[in-house]
Amino acid sequence: MTALRLTHEILTVRTAHPFAIARGTQQEYRVVWVRLADGDGLEGWGEADPSWYYGETADTVAAALGVYATVLPDDPFRLEEADAAMMRALRGNAAARMAVSAALHDLAGKRLGVPLWRWWGLDPSRAPRSSFTIGLDTPERVRAKVREASAYPVLKVKVGTPDDAAVLRAVRETTDRPIRVDANAGWTAKQALARLPLLAELGVELIEQPVAPDDLEGLAAVRRAAPMPVLADESCRTAADIPRLAGVVDGINIKLAKCGSLREAQRMIAVARAHHLAVMVGCMIETSLGITAAAHLAPLLDYLDLDGALLLARDPFAGASLAAGQVTLPTSPGLGVTTR
Ligand code: MG
Repeated sequence: MTALRLTHEILTVRTAHPFAIARGTQQEYRVVWVRLADGDGLEGWGEADPSWYYGETADTVAAALGVYATVLPDDPFRLEEADAAMMRALRGNAAARMAVSAALHDLAGKRLGVPLWRWWGLDPSRAPRSSFTIGLDTPERVRAKVREASAYPVLKVKVGTPDDAAVLRAVRETTDRPIRVDANAGWTAKQALARLPLLAELGVELIEQPVAPDDLEGLAAVRRAAPMPVLADESCRTAADIPRLAGVVDGINIKLAKCGSLREAQRMIAVARAHHLAVMVGCMIETSLGITAAAHLAPLLDYLDLDGALLLARDPFAGASLAAGQVTLPTSPGLGVTTR
């Protein structure tokens, strides 16, 4: 068996609109396209979507890949060993490890000749509908974005500013579609509790990460008072974070860029289920390469938020379709992603 050869390329992608959340605004994102060649003409692909919030940039990903390239097993099916070897060589760097994990799964699936969802024994028709995100903006521009997103059946509205009430009222006046809100840790527990009556009045169906990641007391207080489910995102990176969230929130939001591998994402789903927690899979701003890796998990989930590639002005890859929030998984082997 010949050694797997890892190469990478940094891609700059832009969102159609500047994308604002409680922590800041951005329109240009650098993601990393990882390719693993096996010497027999097959190639596995993965994407790293680094976030400065979790301490990564495209440059730290590139540096980490230099380390990971030297510790990979020759056999792409040795996925557990690959994860462990990367962790031993260099901890953290979840986005970088995730790209390698996706590329190994893609390559193994191509060798088997089956798509990942089929290898994992899943039924694509079980996938929930994905939400479409409306970033922070003025009430007027939010109205326009909601109208522009008329094809998407569920909206996730970013909140966490003094304009929250005006923005949410503007959304509700524009549409009767289900609304979820994500504060990205932008509220204090007191602010979150004060906003609950309005969220209930507007029929908000779910609240994501109302308060700071370490404020588990605040999360629990919001959950006790809220008539709708409260999910942890920034408070939950890997399976080890889940037990302490049981009884504190109603569910978790998994992101591949936080947890570092497709195997870890599957462990998180199992651990969350064992603690009676609902499970969402979300995303960063990513291309269809990264989104498709996450989309293969969709049949296992309660909630889906995989709009990252839909927000791009131009998506360099084609894979899982999220048109109208409906997941259509590829039927070609591995991830099933091609360049556009
Ligand atoms: Mg979130």
